[in-house]
Amino acid sequence: MQVPFFAYPKHFLSDEDAFVDIFRSVMARGAFIQQQELLAFEANLAGFIGTKHAIGLADGTNALILGLRALGIGTGDEVIFPSHTFVATHGAIVAVGATPVPVDMGEDGLMDPGAVEAAITSRTRMILPVQLNGRICAMERILEIARQHGLLVAEDSCQALGARLDGCFAGTFGTFGAFSFYPAKALGCFGDGGALVTDSDEIARQVRAMRDHGRNERGEVVMSGTNARLDNLQAAILDFKLKTFRETIARRRDIAGRYDRAFREIEGMVLPPAPDSDPRRFDTFQNYELCAVQRDALRAHLGKRGIGTMVQWGGRAVHQIAALGHACSLPRTERFFEYCLMLPMNQYLTDAQVDHVIGAVREFHGHA
Ligand SMILES: *Cc1c(COP(=O)(O)O)cnc(C)c1O
Repeated sequence: MQVPFFAYPKHFLSDEDAFVDIFRSVMARGAFIQQQELLAFEANLAGFIGTKHAIGLADGTNALILGLRALGIGTGDEVIFPSHTFVATHGAIVAVGATPVPVDMGEDGLMDPGAVEAAITSRTRMILPVQLNGRICAMERILEIARQHGLLVAEDSCQALGARLDGCFAGTFGTFGAFSFYPAKALGCFGDGGALVTDSDEIARQVRAMRDHGRNERGEVVMSGTNARLDNLQAAILDFKLKTFRETIARRRDIAGRYDRAFREIEGMVLPPAPDSDPRRFDTFQNYELCAVQRDALRAHLGKRGIGTMVQWGGRAVHQIAALGHACSLPRTERFFEYCLMLPMNQYLTDAQVDHVIGAVREFHGHA
């Protein structure tokens, strides 16, 4: 049996007829850019998350860049971010001319509030936490630190659409939240896509203009902008997929629960918290990432059983990428990358595939 890590063709094949209908409808009307499908998706996304505004954008990176720019982050400003993230978080900070300051992660694998506090200088303007793997970091502490020091907060919530902490959705804790609809994300489109969510009318106005060459809804140029629009066709596909997104998340949580029950007793692995282990949290399992003492041998074993796995981001945190020039040491993050491994996790996995992964992991550790 083969269990590929990603199942990209399934994105389309799972609902082929519906997607062909959407394509035909959008194409036949020539509704390519900023048409009703985009407006509908934005309204439904805002409704799902509970923000006043959701703005469709070209990708998650542009959501971060335009959000930072709308907040006036730029040259001379330091932005604190967790080094345990995708390089896009870093790239967005650099793109607006600000200085990215990487910090270590806590025991939960997410941004460590203590490390954030220690990294604050007179030039710090903003804290940019990252909600990784569909799990929200210790936002109450991060917001408190920000309040004490007069700092802005926004979220890289690209991996956490639908995740909640104390009933609040990822993307709603700071001034804005950035989302990505890259095909590997839990809500993935057929190419690149992203969105920014915010309750601020002013941020929304600026981001809407910036994504469309600085033009307002009447087509007048009101500021300098760029082109970072979400294609209307992608918006139509996303709006269709959003209708069943709750089931998508439920299936991911079901798979995570199965993995947890099967692996709990195995020594030599540290698992992510199980779906129902904390009543304050609703994790969405964008990834199922564990730490394994014998990571590379386990990976090879699973490979022989036809199971695709991944070591996130080439096995390196942002501060470990030589080309980016961060000569710092963040011990917990560095240790994490020696042991981390992601198992197949997507809504298209069959129960038989999940059982195959479970059997192979248990077999490797000498369990029946
Ligand atoms: C996917 C992702 C992004 C942005 O991705 P795009 O490819 O630009 O849509 C940013 N940050 C994190 C943590 C991500 O996982």
